[in-house]
Amino acid sequence: MLVRGAEFVIVGGGAAGLGIAWQLALRGKKPLLLEAQTPGGGAMTASGGMLSPAYEAEYEELPLLRAMVASLHRYPKWASELGDIGFVESGTYEIALLPEDVPYVQRRVEFERAQGLAVEWLDGAALRKRLPHLSPRIPGGSYAAHEGHLIPELLRDRLVEAIHKAGGTILSHTPVKAVEKVGSSFHLHTPKGIYEAEQVFVCTGVPLEGLELPFRVYPVRGQMVAVENLDPSWLPAPVRYFNRLAGYGYAIPKRGYIILGGTVEEKGTDPSLTLGGLLDILRRAYYAFPDLYERRILRFWTGFRPATASRQPILHKDPTAPLYYVNGLYRNGILLLPLIGEGVVQWVLEGKLPPELEPFTSSDLLQEKALRPHS
Ligand SMILES: Cc1cc2nc3c(=O)[nH]c(=O)nc-3n(C[C@H](O)[C@H](O)[C@H](O)COP(=O)(O)OP(=O)(O)OC[C@H]3O[C@@H](n4cnc5c(N)ncnc54)[C@H](O)[C@@H]3O)c2cc1C
Repeated sequence: MLVRGAEFVIVGGGAAGLGIAWQLALRGKKPLLLEAQTPGGGAMTASGGMLSPAYEAEYEELPLLRAMVASLHRYPKWASELGDIGFVESGTYEIALLPEDVPYVQRRVEFERAQGLAVEWLDGAALRKRLPHLSPRIPGGSYAAHEGHLIPELLRDRLVEAIHKAGGTILSHTPVKAVEKVGSSFHLHTPKGIYEAEQVFVCTGVPLEGLELPFRVYPVRGQMVAVENLDPSWLPAPVRYFNRLAGYGYAIPKRGYIILGGTVEEKGTDPSLTLGGLLDILRRAYYAFPDLYERRILRFWTGFRPATASRQPILHKDPTAPLYYVNGLYRNGILLLPLIGEGVVQWVLEGKLPPELEPFTSSDLLQEKALRPHS
């Protein structure tokens, strides 16, 4: 059955798809978004909502760092236009768990400053003045003042409302199983019928329902735990903690709770919570904040970060047709959302991408030879 589609159809209502749909709707394009589950039901609402360029980019990921900074700068405007998304410009801390970790955290401070980011080093005593519940064992850490965090569920809700208000349509429980080129348009095959489109944006994160993409997406599992917190001053900003052997963990304040995260595991699409995963999360958090011991656990969950072989985002346009793939937002899709939303729409409607997104159109990124293990 052929169903009336739209000029612009977006497949997948996660961070990328909702951001693009809103920007298209704001420009009067009345987009149609087809979502396999419900909006935000993929990685988006599994995420911690941290907006932290300084601590997320690896040393060799300068283009990604620039894109994250450019996107972060857009958030105050997005937050004022969308309404309450739980956006707080709190800054972010990164602390060394043991004395032997201090040089690693200090090395990052040098790197971040060399990139023009305002990051300060604080010894243990100075840190504890700002984070009173931090363990006296913590030797020191850094603070990036311009960063922040938000509540992904609120961001999802506000985007859905804004898309509807601006004339867009979202259809939940409408998985796209195939995108077929037919003459000068596309047919999107779903169990509810075939939707017609002139331009298609495939923003599936880890694709469901067997939809094939021209590159591989690796699901990178993250396990997360929420613990009760009724006192906002207990943890005024997200804190990432680093240990040379155990890796990273983080605690992110939210309204009424703290998110403790997160594992980074390549286990295919197995959604299990594991004893080892939870143990890793909880023992790092407890080492940094011993007072957490009596906290009530509210819930725990897993999500899949969509990673490409290179671990970089991919913005790929089919060479023969207006078919766009936006994927590989991996650990930073919430942070990258404003830049992706505005930038991709500018690319499609005006033919030029913001310079910060250009590195991610390279066809080299489609190659498996760019394969990197997760980090
Ligand atoms: C545990 C965890 C913690 C994270 N923490 C942070 C953080 O603190 N800060 C940050 O910036 N980022 C974070 N992220 C990453 C962020 O959530 C992702 O980068 C982002 O959600 C990816 O956006 P996306 O739109 O590509 O994919 P998703 O958000 O997964 O959305 C894709 C959507 O497409 C739908 N879909 C899939 N296949 C089909 C199909 N065939 N037809 C129709 N719809 C389909 C899915 O149901 C889904 O709703 C975290 C992720 C995880 C898992």
